[in-house]
Amino acid sequence: MSSEFSFIQQIRQRALQASPNLSLGIGDDTAIWREQAGRERLITTDLLIENVHFKLDYTPLACLGHKALAVSLSDIAAMGGKPEFALLSLGLPKSQLANPAWQDFFDGYFALARKHGVTLIGGDTSSSPDTLVVDSIVIGSCASGKAIRRSGAQVGDAIYVTGELGAAATGLELLLRGEKYDATTNDLRQAAIRAHLLPEPRLAFAQRLNSLAGAMMDVSDGLAQDLAHICEESDVDAIIDFDAVPIADCVRLVRPVKEEAFSLGISGGEDYELLLTTNPANEAALQNLATKCQLRLTRIGEIIVRRLPQAKPQLFLRTADSVDLLTVKGYDHFCR
Ligand code: ADP
Ligand code: MG
Repeated sequence: MSSEFSFIQQIRQRALQASPNLSLGIGDDTAIWREQAGRERLITTDLLIENVHFKLDYTPLACLGHKALAVSLSDIAAMGGKPEFALLSLGLPKSQLANPAWQDFFDGYFALARKHGVTLIGGDTSSSPDTLVVDSIVIGSCASGKAIRRSGAQVGDAIYVTGELGAAATGLELLLRGEKYDATTNDLRQAAIRAHLLPEPRLAFAQRLNSLAGAMMDVSDGLAQDLAHICEESDVDAIIDFDAVPIADCVRLVRPVKEEAFSLGISGGEDYELLLTTNPANEAALQNLATKCQLRLTRIGEIIVRRLPQAKPQLFLRTADSVDLLTVKGYDHFCR
C-alpha cells in the first residue's frame, strides 16, 4: 500500500457486498441507495482521535477497526434501528498509509460489518500531520415513527440496563497501567480490556424491542450522565437503587471498595450497554426478550415526577437506609 489510490482500492475490494437497497457503493463521487416506503432514516457519526479516544501503544489496529464501527452501530441500536450502510473517513499520518498493519484495522472493521449486515459505501482518505483520525458514519432505518427517543420516559416507568457497567472503564485503567490485550487469555483482566477495546453493540435486542421501550439510549458517557440525558429530554427525574446496579465483576480489580466500584460503574464511560425505560407491566416480556438475546437485563430504578419545573433533572440514589441526591459525573471532553 503506497498511494492513497491503492489504499482506497484495497478498501473497495474488501467492501464489495451485495446489499438489497444499494444501487452504487464505493468508486464514484457519491453512493446511491433506494429509499424504502414506510421507513425512516437514521444517521450517526463518531470521531475517534488518537491520543484523545485511544492510544496506539495499547490499541491493536484490529480492535480500533472494530470499535470505530461498533460505537456507531451502538447509536443505531439505541434508536431501535437496523444498520444498513457505513462511511469511513480516515486522516492518516504519512507513515501509516504504507503500514501493512492497516489490513488488521479492516479485518476488525469488516468482521463486525459482516456480522450486522452493514455495507461500507464510501468515505474519505487524507493525510494528517501526526495523529490518526477516524470518522465513522452509519446509516440505518426503522419503521416510520418507531425510533426509540430519549424523550419517551414517563413517570412510573421502570429503568433497565443491559449487561454490566464499569468493565470498559476498568479495561482502560489496566491498559493505561501498561497491561496489554491478549486474545488467548480468558480472565477478569482480559474481560475488562476486551470490554474497552471490543464493545458489542446490542443490536439484536434493540431491534426486537418494538414498543417495549419508552425511552432508550446507549451508555457511552457513564450511566449517571446518560440517565440524566433521558431525564432532561423527558422532563422527569429518576431514582436508582444502589444494590440493583449491575457492576461488572472485573471492576474490583481496580476498585476493591464497594462504593468506589459503584462510582466507577456509573461514571466510567464506553460501556455501550443500552439504558431504557418502560411501563413495569412490560417487565416479563422484556426479560423474555433479553433471555432470547442472551443478554443480562437489570431493573435499576424508576422514573419519578420532576418537582421543580424548568429545573435541571435530578437523580436520586436509594440505599438500604437513605435516599440521596446523586451528583452526576461522567465523561465530558471539555471539562477535564
Ligand atoms: P472524491 O475525490 O470524489 O471525494 P475520493 O478519491 O476521495 O473521491 O474517493 C473515491 C471513492 O473511494 C469514493 O467512492 C469514496 O467514497 C471512497 N473512499 C475514499 N476513502 C474511503 C475510505 N476511507 N473508506 C471507504 N471508502 C472510501
Ligand atoms: Mg474525497
